[in-house]
Amino acid sequence: MPLLHSLLYRAPKIALNKIPVSPVSLFLAPWVVPISSPVIADGAVAICDGRIISVGGAASLQAQFAQSRVENCQGVLLPGLVNAHIHLELSAYRHIPQPTPDQSFCDWIRSLLQLRQTGEISVDDTSEAAHQMLEQQCNSGIILLLDIGNTIPVSPATMQSPGEITFLLELLGPDAKSEEQVLARINSLPDSVSATAHAPYSTTAGIMTALKKRAERLAHIFSLHVAESADEVELLRTGQGCFREFLEERGAWDGRFPRPGKLTQGAVDYLADLGLLDANLLCVHCVQVSKPEVKLLARNGCKICLCPGSNRFLGVGVAPLEMMLNHGLLPAIGTDSMASNEALDLWREMQLLREDHPGVSPAQILAMATLGGAQALGRQQDFGTLAPSRKASLLNVNSPALERAKDAEQLVDILTGGGQPEKLCWISEDGYSKV
Ligand SMILES: [Zn+2]
Repeated sequence: MPLLHSLLYRAPKIALNKIPVSPVSLFLAPWVVPISSPVIADGAVAICDGRIISVGGAASLQAQFAQSRVENCQGVLLPGLVNAHIHLELSAYRHIPQPTPDQSFCDWIRSLLQLRQTGEISVDDTSEAAHQMLEQQCNSGIILLLDIGNTIPVSPATMQSPGEITFLLELLGPDAKSEEQVLARINSLPDSVSATAHAPYSTTAGIMTALKKRAERLAHIFSLHVAESADEVELLRTGQGCFREFLEERGAWDGRFPRPGKLTQGAVDYLADLGLLDANLLCVHCVQVSKPEVKLLARNGCKICLCPGSNRFLGVGVAPLEMMLNHGLLPAIGTDSMASNEALDLWREMQLLREDHPGVSPAQILAMATLGGAQALGRQQDFGTLAPSRKASLLNVNSPALERAKDAEQLVDILTGGGQPEKLCWISEDGYSKV
């Protein structure tokens, strides 16, 4: 597993010979899955002052920390999962019909906008569904969540401990008329609101560039939907297709594609031309990307988030995961929203990735759900792996299938292919916390 080993050596090291002053808690388990190093049978994690101080075999850590408080756990200890793309505000929109084979991506957008405009789903319904979904995310082992929304929530959702949520206000405007209004809004936003762009097909280059600069100034991630459908690429390349019709219907087509004198190969190529590719960019979906575009993403240190459940629901294709991994990229995983997915369950998303990419190892898929997500959100110093200096928030899972695992390979196969384990709880320094 060269990828995982290279990740291990990139992890920051702490002085292991430093003697902790505070009491040490030692959590022992039949299996410890650090992600950044091989799975440990009969393993242990030592915690002190809210941070992991050591991970290793149970016997050696018990000898090293002889005075520690010891807890015996069942099943598996692993880092919390990261959902790097969700729209909580669409949690009540579960009745958008799945596009039929003769319908386009734009037909699904029409259905979504129609339902939003009818006012059938009230502000209270939206808020209640969002809060319920957030609780469900934490109860399913999500420790970090990136939430994207078109409106600033009236009662902002906070995640129960140990989870953390980041909210990005998503802005869009496809033509010169809306660009002026959106740029004025960006200038009037307080710095306490982090904002991002929707997608290249819905947001002018001027808006995307202004939002990207603002994100850099405020030091937060810049996330946008990129290369989700072939229709998007068609618009950027030729100025034709269902998006052209859709924008014309709404009086928002001003003929900006194809760009005069520019041959656009795809959505990533377009963003590269705008100078938006860097380590602060999180490209969500990346289904319709070419090999040169994957190389561009890798060369610029961009982050990727795959949403296999949403892509399957909308019938837009399958992202070239093997190509991304071969170029040294470790994508994150996102569920997207209830408007474009049957369930917002990261365990299910791992199962879908296993089905779509039988050549990708289960260990790499588990690394995507943990470390890939933490890196995408710029939080790998705290989350994504069980390693010294990471936050002491461990996920403890168990099931009859996991108990029957004979070796590390079988264990990771079940973790990524078996869906959400029956038993799941969080462990912190003080012990267990219920979910
Ligand atoms: Zn989305």
